[in-house]
Amino acid sequence: MNKQIDYIKAEIKDQYLQDNKPWIIGYSGGKDSTTLLQLVWYALKELPKEKITKDIHVVCNDTLVENPKVIDWINKTLQQIQQQAKIDKLPIIVKKTMPALNDTFWVNLIGRGYPSPNSSFRWCTDRLKIRPTSAYIQEQVRKNGEVIILLGTREYESIARKKSLKKYSVGNSRLSRHSDLQSAYTYKPIRYISTDDIWMYLLETSSPWAGSNNKLVDLYRKASGGDCPLVIDTTTPSCGQSRFGCWVCTVVAKDKSMQSLIDNGEQHLKPLIKIRNWLVENRGNDKYRTGVLRNGGKGKGPYNIQTRKFLLTQLLSAEKSMQEKLISQQELKAIQIIWDRDGYYKNVYKIYYQVYNELIKGNIMNRQDEIKKAQNGRIAQLCKKHNVHDKFIFKLVEKEKYKSLKLGKFSMSSEVEQAIEKEARNEN
Ligand code: SF4
Repeated sequence: MNKQIDYIKAEIKDQYLQDNKPWIIGYSGGKDSTTLLQLVWYALKELPKEKITKDIHVVCNDTLVENPKVIDWINKTLQQIQQQAKIDKLPIIVKKTMPALNDTFWVNLIGRGYPSPNSSFRWCTDRLKIRPTSAYIQEQVRKNGEVIILLGTREYESIARKKSLKKYSVGNSRLSRHSDLQSAYTYKPIRYISTDDIWMYLLETSSPWAGSNNKLVDLYRKASGGDCPLVIDTTTPSCGQSRFGCWVCTVVAKDKSMQSLIDNGEQHLKPLIKIRNWLVENRGNDKYRTGVLRNGGKGKGPYNIQTRKFLLTQLLSAEKSMQEKLISQQELKAIQIIWDRDGYYKNVYKIYYQVYNELIKGNIMNRQDEIKKAQNGRIAQLCKKHNVHDKFIFKLVEKEKYKSLKLGKFSMSSEVEQAIEKEARNEN
């Protein structure tokens, strides 16, 4: 075991000194990525200080629907890593990535009515995990030309993974080309360690940032399982199969980790399992879906508005009873904008009031009527002054508002062009 660890550390040091490409470590807080980061840390500490020149980005993705118990622990750990790196004078940059507002689980499930993901319509992984991390990696590629991504994956995890490793390997080197991201390479220093050896290493070797790995071991014991790997491409093993996935995950038949945590004393998590089970059990029920597909054809469409309102009520009620933030104010605002388009004006705001018996704090939704009135008045004045049809301008403003939730500029400009053409046709 010690021999194997020494070999890995020697390889890490050698690889670090090969070039100037910054390293990006995919850190999920689980046993594999913790082992990887520890080994890199201890290996670099063995190098002469003047040779530690290139940056190491520790990237951790928060899907915003992580198990609250797990994300609390990860947040604390990320802080410890950053503080200790400073003390140890290592060029480590900790970065937490998150999905864009338009891509979050709740904006799509409750806002747009996407049915909860399953293996044939798994709309979540790309939006919640791949896009946020890829955006950060691409940013580093733009700044540095090329980057190396260190992964805590181990080769025997799946045959499919093995095939993909072969396909993208760069000559005889330890690096492989990233399957999707240009100018990015992957390197898997712990690819040959067995699960038993991983645990042995973590139990025997203290963590450079936290002193011991007892809390990690305890979390695993309570959740009795593995971790969710940092998903950075389509070849990463299904994150839905791992035990520390999103608490809303309906891709797996049963959320074993959540149930185990509850069985091991985390009773306050019960409302989450209730919501998740409702999503699994009622996904295919016609009465919760519209009868129109997104392309206009007949079939099981998105959740109807009653279902979306019901889900929002359940979510906010769980949030209130657990005293734990489950949805952000920004997401509530984004959902309202989507619902506005479907003619359900102010419903988010009403549901929030019903659950909390108070208005949404500091949110623009509270002053929606007032702001809209003032804006419309100003637009009408300007239209009059410039002799422009105000109704047409109002239409354009509405289009811009709906698109502002991050659709591309191209999409926005083409909608505006279409509206102008339609108006011109009407006038002729
Ligand atoms: S853990 Fe489940 S819900 Fe989360 S991204 Fe993966 S498949 Fe989707």
